[in-house]
Amino acid sequence: MVASDDVRSHTAIHVLKGAVVNVLGRGAKWSSSAYSGGTHGGLTVQFDRKPTDEEMAKIEEAANQKIKEDAPTEMHEMARSDAEARWGDDIYDLFPLPVELKVVKVFHLPGWNVNTCGKQHTAKTGEVGGIKIVKWRYRANKQLLEMSFDVTG
Ligand SMILES: [Zn+2]
Repeated sequence: MVASDDVRSHTAIHVLKGAVVNVLGRGAKWSSSAYSGGTHGGLTVQFDRKPTDEEMAKIEEAANQKIKEDAPTEMHEMARSDAEARWGDDIYDLFPLPVELKVVKVFHLPGWNVNTCGKQHTAKTGEVGGIKIVKWRYRANKQLLEMSFDVTG
């Protein structure tokens, strides 16, 4: 089955996020927002400085390297306490899940990205095709790095 553009661009958010943390470090691990639809998507993370153009190029390169690896993705449905015990707060974004939620769905791309997420993903990263960061900007007053991207191929 060929993955739809919506599924590819959503999965690309996780791949891109892993690349961001890989290049900029764990200081960039908190996402403040993400969206995707069709072949387009966006990701915003908290970060304490403006990245260099070289770093942004490396992020795109690392994301595409992970796609080339065609790494398998995993979905887990598990007790929230088990997920926290295994991955700590890495499973969360800037805005936490409701406390009453006791069972969570977790997307896991081993060694790269883990996040609570109930959406559909490609079975392997290769199905994403490719990621092109089309625009980015750093909002110093809010300490936010905003990226928009297209999935290609
Ligand atoms: Zn997801």
